[in-house]
Amino acid sequence: MSLMTTLLPTTLAGSLPKPSWLAEPEALWAAWKPDGNALDEAKRDAVRLALRMQENAGIDIVTDGEQTRRHFVTTFIEGLDGVDFEHRRTVHIRNRYDADVPVVTGPVARRHPVFAGDAAFLRAETTHRIKYTLPGPMTMVDTLYDAHYKSREKLALAFAAILNEEAKEIAAAGIDVIQFDEPAFNVYFDEVRDWGIAALERAAQGLGCKTAVHICYGYGIKANIDWKKTLGAEWRQYEQTFPLLAHSSIDQVSLECAHSHVPIDLIGLLPGKEVMVGAIDVATSEVETPEDVAAVIRSALRFVPAERLLPCTNCGMVPLARPIAQAKLEALARGTALVRREIAS
Ligand code: ZN
Repeated sequence: MSLMTTLLPTTLAGSLPKPSWLAEPEALWAAWKPDGNALDEAKRDAVRLALRMQENAGIDIVTDGEQTRRHFVTTFIEGLDGVDFEHRRTVHIRNRYDADVPVVTGPVARRHPVFAGDAAFLRAETTHRIKYTLPGPMTMVDTLYDAHYKSREKLALAFAAILNEEAKEIAAAGIDVIQFDEPAFNVYFDEVRDWGIAALERAAQGLGCKTAVHICYGYGIKANIDWKKTLGAEWRQYEQTFPLLAHSSIDQVSLECAHSHVPIDLIGLLPGKEVMVGAIDVATSEVETPEDVAAVIRSALRFVPAERLLPCTNCGMVPLARPIAQAKLEALARGTALVRREIAS
């Protein structure tokens, strides 16, 4: 099934803010407020609200807003064997900040589906085309302390096999796009080349839907903002990964463009790929105008044909206030509509 039945289909990187009755707003990794059956019901209601927010804004390819997970990596890992969440260790995540993380203590394994039920619920709740997000293998490795494999590559390949089983069941629920989030691809360039792309392709192997990878400069948290200040006037990180991805089996690449220092011509390194162009900055509460969005799309169109361009957000919007996220989605849809009219005329 083609995703490109609409010219310039709009989508989002993944997450949306959670309602205040589900978790503390404007915070990352906030604890759940309800528990037990009330929590299950609250998560489903939050997914419904996230869908309505996207549909009302005019977004074409929607997600569950990641309303059923606290963390984009560890919530998946909580469903696996071999990882100890009780005795945490401190690691330096993405070469950027220290975090207390779970410990890999034995062979990792998946005894049951983690998100397949959530994916089926999402499919039943909307007629829009839908995308489901999973963590990428390298980013999973980089969010844990490994006391068993003693090899980032071996652990990544073990996770890739598990992700592939999970992704196949999610795709079978009727999902149109499965996206692997790999912010670590913007940090560990030698590993991306040596085994990162291979692990990603293993995770995406044989899926009966579109496959995507999201590579960003992170949420608008202080550690990321400080890191971005060290990257210089031009952010050329994608220059190393895009040629590798261009030769990979992955269908779509999601990248950060709005307010970033990424030279837009780097998109030209992705011939043949569909490109999710980040036209909404998630690191500020200032809402883009439709014209701001249109300007990013127009500049991207110099390097990718309209048939392969999907206007998107830079990254997840979970730390933003809900009305801000709503307004940003509306700006994304309205700015895209401006460009569609220009192309049609
Ligand atoms: Zn991101």
